[in-house]
Amino acid sequence: MSAEIIDGKKVAELVRNRVREDVNDWKSKGHRAPFLQVILVGDDPASKVYTGAKTKACEDVGIETHTRILQDTISAKELKSIIKAYNEDDSVDGILVQLPLPSHLSSHDVIETIDYRKDVDGFHPMNVGRLTVDEPCYRSCTPAGIMELFKHYSIPVKSKHAVVVGASNIVGSPMAIMLSRENSSGKATTTICHKFTKDLTQHTISADILIAAAGQPELIKGEMIKEGAVVIDVGINRVADETSEKGYKLVGDVDYESVRKKASWITPVPGGVGPMTVAMLMKNTLLAAKKSIYPE
Ligand code: NAD
Repeated sequence: MSAEIIDGKKVAELVRNRVREDVNDWKSKGHRAPFLQVILVGDDPASKVYTGAKTKACEDVGIETHTRILQDTISAKELKSIIKAYNEDDSVDGILVQLPLPSHLSSHDVIETIDYRKDVDGFHPMNVGRLTVDEPCYRSCTPAGIMELFKHYSIPVKSKHAVVVGASNIVGSPMAIMLSRENSSGKATTTICHKFTKDLTQHTISADILIAAAGQPELIKGEMIKEGAVVIDVGINRVADETSEKGYKLVGDVDYESVRKKASWITPVPGGVGPMTVAMLMKNTLLAAKKSIYPE
């Protein structure tokens, strides 16, 4: 068996096309374009690539955006006062602080400073909390993008055994919530694994749907999965590669070659989950401009 490829680039384009149409429709009714404020602290190369991709996607769908670049020495107090000013600014619909932050800053504190009504990343505890009780909220973009992939490819999730490897606040945990809620789209029986899980394979081998979000290059090998499993690779890891001009290559959390021989569906890296994350951010920013989730 060789797995069918889940083409995140293609599905993301479809999502972006829908957002572009909706943005045009919104503007044709006399509204200004949605506006996303991005904040980048420091000059982490990967973060620059991610904010660059977000800016490009905004331009593509007609969302206006500005990236404010701040010194990595900025104090928590200064950063929070900048965020608070954007909270108060009616011309700003969405606020995104690119993570990770320099180690002297607490990402929890910083995220909680963002007005939850402008938290288009869906990381604020208000949005995460509402997700867990099936209330309207901004849904964290990466897991929301994965749910969209299941929908697009008509991959059944209900009553399946989903195993999420990774339990971070921004990917693994919200992914597990979306998969497991019985009143919303997921309805899967869901297992969450993390770095304290003993015998990871014991869990992954029974997964109908396996989400790898551990940030560990090629952690999931073919022998760790069930024949016919759906495998979603969230990982984006830079590993040294002397043959590449950049000196590194990107690999996922899945050992693609061995896993694709056993899986029924698989996402590639790059071109799988990554483009969906950005597309869902566009969707959330439009929802923020329209005040669809939190009406005034
Ligand atoms: P994180 O470091 O915050 O969390 C990693 C999680 O994996 C933790 O819960 C940890 O306990 C768990 N873990 C680590 N090693 C493990 C192991 N050996 N076995 C089981 N669990 C283990 O990372 P994150 O922010 O959630 O990101 C995870 C990966 O996804 C990274 O590679 C990141 O670059 C990538 N990512 C991709 C996108 C995208 O759009 N494709 C978006 C966000 C993050």
